[in-house]
Amino acid sequence: MQLSLSHLKKSFELTQRSGWGVERKFVHAVSDVSLDIREGESFGIVGESGSGKSTLARLILGLEQPTEGGITLGGRDVAGLTGKARRDYWKQVQIIFQDPFSSLNPRMRIGEILAEPIRNYGVATGDLTERVERLLKLVGLAPTASNRYPHELSGGQRQRVAIAAALAVEPRIILADEAVSALDVSVQAQIINLLSDLKQQFGLTYIFITHDLNLSVYFCDRIAVLYLGQIMEICSSDALLERPVHPYTQALISAVPAVDPAKRKNRTRLTGEIPSPIDPPKGCPFHPRCALAIAQCSETRPELVDIGNGHRAACHVVTQNVLQTAATT
Ligand code: ADP
Ligand code: MG
Repeated sequence: MQLSLSHLKKSFELTQRSGWGVERKFVHAVSDVSLDIREGESFGIVGESGSGKSTLARLILGLEQPTEGGITLGGRDVAGLTGKARRDYWKQVQIIFQDPFSSLNPRMRIGEILAEPIRNYGVATGDLTERVERLLKLVGLAPTASNRYPHELSGGQRQRVAIAAALAVEPRIILADEAVSALDVSVQAQIINLLSDLKQQFGLTYIFITHDLNLSVYFCDRIAVLYLGQIMEICSSDALLERPVHPYTQALISAVPAVDPAKRKNRTRLTGEIPSPIDPPKGCPFHPRCALAIAQCSETRPELVDIGNGHRAACHVVTQNVLQTAATT
C-alpha cells in the first residue's frame, strides 16, 4: 500500500507580545510537501535540525492536523482520523522515536510494555507471555528482559524494546524519527542491521528520518532532502551520493567527510545560517545561501522537476540546464 502526501503544509501560529499588542506570526514547519512512499521501500527523509522532519512524522501519524494538503494510505484519506479509524491506521503505521525513554513507561516492566499494544490492538490470540517472548526474540533480547524496567537496560536495548513495541501490532509501515541518532556508532550499526533483518522478514516499509546523510544513504532506497520544510531533491540513494544536482544537496554531501579524496573535488561550502521558518525567504528557500542563485530564485518558488528516472529537484538553475540540454540534443 502506497502512502501519499499531497501538498502537505503545516504552520504553527505563534503569538508574540509587541509594543502595540499581540502580533500573530506563523512558523512554516512543512511547506507544500508531496511524496509517494512505495510499499516495501526504505524511504529516507534527510534534513538539518529544524527542517521540519519531526513535524512531517507527526503529520503522517495523525498527531498533528495539516494546515493544508492531505495524506492517503492505499488511496484512503488518513488525515483527521479519530477514534477507531485512527487506531486502525496506527495498526498499520507505527513510529520509533529517538529517545525511547519518552515512549517507554518507566514504571512498567518490559513485559508489560510489550503486552499493552498486543492487548489494546487485539492483534493476536493465544498466550500473551509467549507473544511477548517472541517479540523479544525478534529484536534480539533474552526472555528475561521481560522482568526489567527501561532504566535497567542500555540505550541500544531500550531502542530494541521500542522496535518490539512497534512490531507488536504487526504494522506495514514503520516511521523511525532519528531512531538511532542518540546511540554510539557501533550500537547504531547493530540497530540498523536489526531494522534491515526485520524488513526482510516482514516486508516492512520504512520511513527513515535523520539529519545524518551517511546513515540515510546507507540504509535507504530513496531519499528526500528537506530544507526549511520543503523538498529540495528526491532520488535514489545511489544518485544522491553519486550525482546530486541541487546546490543544497551538493553542499550537504561536501560537508560529509569523504573517504575518497577524488570525491572531494568540486567542494561547495555551506555558508551562513538556516533562515528562520517564521519568515522564510521568498522564492527558493535556499537562495540566500546559494552560490548559483539567479534572479528568478528570489522571486518564484521552484517546482520539483524530473531530470530523468524519477530523480527530481526543485531548482531553477537545474531546470534551466535540463531545458538547455534538451534543446541542444
Ligand atoms: P526537525 O525535526 O527537522 O528538527 P521540527 O519538525 O521539529 O524539525 O521543527 C520544524 C520547525 O517547526 C522548527 O522551527 C520548530 O521550532 C517548529 N515547530 C515544531 N513544532 C512546533 C510547535 N508545536 N509550535 C511552534 N513551532 C513548532
Ligand atoms: Mg526532529
